[in-house]
Amino acid sequence: MDFTTSKTLHEEALDHIVGGVNSPSRAYKGVGGGTPVYMESAKGAYFWDVDGNKYIDYLGAYGPIITGHAHPHIAEAISHAAYNGVLYGAPTKLENTFAKMLKSAIPSLEKVRFVNSGTEAVMTTVRVARAYTGRNKVIKFSGCYHGHFDSVLVEAGSGPATLGTPDSAGIPQDVAKDVITVTFNDLESFRQAMERWGDEVAAVLVEPLVGNFGIVTPKEGFLEGVNTITHDAGALVIYDEIITSFRFTYGNTQQLYGIEPDMTAMGKIIGGGLPIGAYGGRQDIMEQVAPLGPAYQAGTMAGNPASMAAGIACLEVLQQDGVYEKLDRLGERLEIGIVEKASEYGIPISVNRMCGAMTVYFGGDTVENYEQAEATDGEAFAQFFHLMLNQGINLAPSKFEAWFLTTEHTESDIDATIEAAGKAFAAMAEK
Ligand code: PMP
Repeated sequence: MDFTTSKTLHEEALDHIVGGVNSPSRAYKGVGGGTPVYMESAKGAYFWDVDGNKYIDYLGAYGPIITGHAHPHIAEAISHAAYNGVLYGAPTKLENTFAKMLKSAIPSLEKVRFVNSGTEAVMTTVRVARAYTGRNKVIKFSGCYHGHFDSVLVEAGSGPATLGTPDSAGIPQDVAKDVITVTFNDLESFRQAMERWGDEVAAVLVEPLVGNFGIVTPKEGFLEGVNTITHDAGALVIYDEIITSFRFTYGNTQQLYGIEPDMTAMGKIIGGGLPIGAYGGRQDIMEQVAPLGPAYQAGTMAGNPASMAAGIACLEVLQQDGVYEKLDRLGERLEIGIVEKASEYGIPISVNRMCGAMTVYFGGDTVENYEQAEATDGEAFAQFFHLMLNQGINLAPSKFEAWFLTTEHTESDIDATIEAAGKAFAAMAEK
């Protein structure tokens, strides 16, 4: 494949945009470098780059795209919003309509608020939990990404249940000391952390089904245990469903497992591809938020008509019969095909999948937590990534990301992808 125009654009970008990209993972650092492919257009399950190469897309823009690119129903809604005025700084009926749609799909949302990104949504839930409980500490699980605000760019030190150290320059140690990181799917280490710090903990921040070190499902009893232990300590459970909202079912992961958090942060899919975030939860907790309560959160763009219209249109598409069944069917076909090809060529992999989202880990070991995901073979993934890209299969450039299917992928797209994976595995087996 010829990437000449992408290379030229990237050299230009490096002169003007820090690192050449507006979000670090786009720079292909996770796959040993290379020139990021510059996209020109996208429709359905496909991308076309600036050199005219066509790709089957599994990046899904890191999660928001579930109905395929440029879905006509969403495009029409955005176009209508564009001609109707994209921003008023005053309330609209669209906000009510969308809030009601979210609430009827996700019963734990007694009240909601719209913001502009996942980061903002999670950041605000943490602030509100601190306001509600009058406590400062937050517990999170290692490897889970919750956005780029200070409190969550913190990882564990050595050993279980240690106080955090900043993951980024510019985060005061004073902030990190209020963050405790424990291992996902390890209820015992969570229990120990809560025994030690429980009465200082405002909230436990959980991706109920992890999307950020690959797709990792909670072990049986894990989420229930987290809820019980957290509530016993007088702290709140916040679900970060930025990736998982409307990804596996019409609603959130909490619907899949029948468990309710106190607050939920959402984003990605609910914006139909436009910038969005939302948070919500129990009424008495949400009443902490201004103008009703003392916890401040505001936004010039919050609830803007374009994002609202796109989000409503996206959920309308997802309400159609058979959407999630189709995603699951395609996901299963892809999983089975890839596993078969890998075993044909003797490449050790393991696959984690939920419905239309999956991760292929290299090395062959089961992945149930971040430490195991980290131990998978990143070099093999990087090789696979580039071999797939060169055959027109666009994956996320990191061994920790998911492959996202859309309602527009077809069985023949899946079969073409399995074919390409077979060729990639063959090339890897030769080395
Ligand atoms: N939480 C989770 C679980 C995420 O996956 C992400 C983004 N990948 C975020 C929060 C942050 O969302 P945003 O990039 O929209 O700020």
